Amino acid sequence: MKGICVLGATGSIGISTLDVVGRHPELYRVVALTANQDAERLAEQCRRHRPALAVLADVGAAERLRGLLADMAGAPEVLAGPEALAQVAALPEVDIVMAAIVGAAGLLPTLAAARAGKRLLLANKEALVVAGEILMSAAAASGALLLPIDSEHNAIFQCMPAGYEHGLDQVGVERILLTASGGPFRDRPLAELEQVTPDQACAHPNWRMGRKISVDSATMMNKGLELIEACWLFGTRPERIQIVIHPQSVIHSLVQYVDGSVLAQLGNPDMRTPIAHALAWPERLSSGVSPLDLFAVGRLDFEPPGLDRFPCLSLAIQAAESGGTAPTILNAANEIAVAAFLMGRIRYTAIAPLVGATLERLPAQAVNRDGLESLLEADRQARAMAEQLLPTLVT
Ligand code: NAD
Ligand code: MG
Repeated sequence: MKGICVLGATGSIGISTLDVVGRHPELYRVVALTANQDAERLAEQCRRHRPALAVLADVGAAERLRGLLADMAGAPEVLAGPEALAQVAALPEVDIVMAAIVGAAGLLPTLAAARAGKRLLLANKEALVVAGEILMSAAAASGALLLPIDSEHNAIFQCMPAGYEHGLDQVGVERILLTASGGPFRDRPLAELEQVTPDQACAHPNWRMGRKISVDSATMMNKGLELIEACWLFGTRPERIQIVIHPQSVIHSLVQYVDGSVLAQLGNPDMRTPIAHALAWPERLSSGVSPLDLFAVGRLDFEPPGLDRFPCLSLAIQAAESGGTAPTILNAANEIAVAAFLMGRIRYTAIAPLVGATLERLPAQAVNRDGLESLLEADRQARAMAEQLLPTLVT
């Protein structure tokens, strides 16, 4: 029996994780569940999965959860506040941590799991974007096994040969082909983008996800964050990664070898596949995902991304090339811009200019592997700068 902690249990990835775990009660025991403020859903999950601990980052929500579980026999201990997230991720009874908090808010608990040597299932890509070197070296130092949950990175991991961590050249890998659906606005006339609403941006053609990553998929900032994520996970540089638009989301990414071979991983677009893969690796586990029907899929299409349509992608590639604090600043400004768009404060077409303007005002600094504090400071400064610039982008 493996003990599991789900950070971000009430979100899209958290719910899919508990679905897979619930199919295998003989293999997994839920030790801790965490969320931000959704006490109601967390209470239901506690009744179903019976964790020893439940954490809400929001103190008032934790009080509500205690009330909701008052009549439960064997109710979990309820903790509150951001520090408690990191605390439960490092508990000795926890073998596996699913890092599925959205945004830089997930960094410290994810890092705590890496430092504690857990099997770390990483969905929270922003943690790697903000502090890739620190997170990767923490996992290497403790012996934590970091397995990617992002469907593309999980696919790349499945297509990589043994020993890739010693360098892609050593194992005959030429480049990574990172696929993208192109999101809901792939074909929308550019002139119409100014008017699109948050609900339209969140209506992804192939995946049901949280609202922040859904907007990132529409702008393709998501693919930019994923390019940075792939550089850290697979020890490579942006120029060795090609982004390919593949609207069907059936091929989840590919690895090209020097002999001309290209390996791909395919499947229905359902996050329970990468979740089950990483839970059981190197074994395999049933996930509840229906088998791929190639006759129903019929055809697979590919096209290059248009950079005039997706300016966020260009900003992310530039930040990846600059390195240092640039990806941290990019991510923080994007979190502010997406939240402002979702609240109706700015238009969709103001997201990229706000991120670009923040990056222009804050030149990137170098960081070393002990530089967590400088990264957190860059994150704070970028959020403050983006907030300050926001009114100039309201039209
Ligand atoms: P979501 O919005 O559905 O869920 C986010 C979870 O994080 C919730 O449980 C929420 O309570 C918690 N949370 C939010 N802010 C928090 C805070 N400040 N402190 C503590 N907890 C907080 O998001 P999601 O779609 O499940 O995505 C989670 C992560 O996984 C993101 O980093 C996303 O990029 C990545 N991811 C998601 C998918 C997907 O299919 N949903 C695919 C690939 C990668
Ligand atoms: Mg992805």
